Amino acid sequence: MDRVLDECREVGISIRTVPGRWINEGDLQHRGTYSDEKMVLSVARDSPQWFETLIHEYCHMQQHLEGMDWFQPGATSAWNRYYAWCTQSAKWRESLILDTRFIQLCELDAERRALAIMRRYRFPTIDIDEYARGANSYVYEHEAQRLVRNVSLRRPEKVQAIRPLLSTRLIKDHQVGLLPNGFLDLYIRHCV
Ligand SMILES: [Zn+2]
Repeated sequence: MDRVLDECREVGISIRTVPGRWINEGDLQHRGTYSDEKMVLSVARDSPQWFETLIHEYCHMQQHLEGMDWFQPGATSAWNRYYAWCTQSAKWRESLILDTRFIQLCELDAERRALAIMRRYRFPTIDIDEYARGANSYVYEHEAQRLVRNVSLRRPEKVQAIRPLLSTRLIKDHQVGLLPNGFLDLYIRHCV
């Protein structure tokens, strides 16, 4: 935690802890956010997973500082198009599949970095297998949300019937669009 704070301070990024379990942003709710434009990393401080979220958002900060594609000028429009589609406020456009893959690869890369940190420091409060299962679920969820045009707050990895479909090993880049058999039906039944 101290290392994260020091590193953020060094590069001029501020950390905002937001009261409550969620950070509200229009129609969307997040446990944490990272804004490269505002140089602010935010975490909902009453979320039971606030520490995991802090690590995840910190990894987005690393992606930004390394100049990865996801934080190049104009990249936020992929996120805007994707969420406008999922919240049903925009019409279909051809780029949506690419936008979805772009976002999924960003999230998967952040999760890969987060797991590397967790394996290195072995925080007693973090169950690494459980985190990896949730990370896979999070990446798949973006594809499911695109298909059903819905942004859900029910975490797929918390659904008993979905859990066996989620590996505790993080998926690979080429798998982000390949939902496990049955995932989408169960997602629609339990999360939408
Ligand atoms: Zn993220």
